[in-house]
Amino acid sequence: MNMPLRKSDPQVAKIIKNEEIRQQETINLIASENIAGDSVLEAAGSLLTNKYAEGYPSVRYYGGCEYIDKIEELAISRAKRLFKADYVNVQPHSGTQANMAIYFAVLSPGDRILGMDLAHGGHLTHGATINFSGTLYRSSYYGVEKETGLINFADLEKLAKRIRPKLIICGASSYPRKIDFLEFRRIADSIGAYLLADIAHIAGLIVAGLHPTPVGIAQFVTTTTHKTLRGPRGGIIIAEKNFGKFIDKMVFPGIQGGPLMHIIAAKAVAFGEALKPEFKRYQSQIIKNSKKLSEELKKRDFRPVTGGTDNHLILIDLTNKNISGSRAEKILEKVGIVVNKNLIPFDQKDPTTTSGIRLGTPTVTSRGMKEAEMAQIAAWIEEAINNRRNKKIILKIRKEIKKFCYEFPIYKKR
Ligand code: PLP
Repeated sequence: MNMPLRKSDPQVAKIIKNEEIRQQETINLIASENIAGDSVLEAAGSLLTNKYAEGYPSVRYYGGCEYIDKIEELAISRAKRLFKADYVNVQPHSGTQANMAIYFAVLSPGDRILGMDLAHGGHLTHGATINFSGTLYRSSYYGVEKETGLINFADLEKLAKRIRPKLIICGASSYPRKIDFLEFRRIADSIGAYLLADIAHIAGLIVAGLHPTPVGIAQFVTTTTHKTLRGPRGGIIIAEKNFGKFIDKMVFPGIQGGPLMHIIAAKAVAFGEALKPEFKRYQSQIIKNSKKLSEELKKRDFRPVTGGTDNHLILIDLTNKNISGSRAEKILEKVGIVVNKNLIPFDQKDPTTTSGIRLGTPTVTSRGMKEAEMAQIAAWIEEAINNRRNKKIILKIRKEIKKFCYEFPIYKKR
């Protein structure tokens, strides 16, 4: 059992190695992914995985939690500093669990919720009917304006007043513009609803001061830790202090068992990294890259929804290119550019086909790519889409991209 993986289980080791090669040899534009640093990986792969620690620091249901308590306390205190928050729970295993804990804490089954439409940029957990949030609660959706692609607050206010939800959810998975949390809170207050801001995608930009923060505005804030925050896969909850005890109980024992202490250690490491000045420079480069990629694509007659971006992602409407999102995703994958098909607002196609693709720059920026590389990537995207039936050209681009990727290692020598 105590042997290197390549010796004890070459089958698994080989699959992991192949995935490493795939990540190294492709340009990853998935907006929700990133490259966790070596220190985050080391903590996530540590022997803290051995420890059961149901409960919270100094009130555990297991002995032997002396150091486990220290790591969770450290993660909490760093997260509080990072988000300028009074209360943080670092135990949610994922963004979905973080949202679930808030729903369970403030809602009863059958209560009304109002979230952003999945097709307009919202997330499954914001009330989609195929998710627990849409089956346990009576969900309604707000969307964006057809002409601008922006959230229409006047419509949202009318809808909120008609529906009178107990909880409004803001935050998105594919909205390329800034979110006005104050306006959301004003509307929530006008009907006595709670506000949950799900900042899973933009948390890194927020802590770097490059997007307004909902902390101190929304009663509840949730985020994943693995997207722009560049930590391990997981979630956290931030809330007004008076809700703390109730939320803690909902996370454990409400919806989870033992916390993943190795992941909590990795969260602490990521928060430590995010508190450093370099992190701000990194986040600012993410936005510069996203804006540049968007401009370069626009020059090539690709249409970004809303006309551009304020954050780390771009949503491209492909209708004028006569290709579906799913086909574009496949073509781009062939040349080594990894993106995801995505519904665009008012999409005529179904979610498995879609009329759009979503592109994001957190990963390429982590690899050290800057504006010049974004121009090159846009050129490759155009060339691949325009020559999608020409195998020779597709192969030529694949070769160029593979070579290019080795100029930007995902990890130093392993
Ligand atoms: N919230 C938003 C806005 C997201 O984009 C996502 C994931 O993409 C989640 C929540 C869910 O996170 P997880 O996949 O960790 O459950």
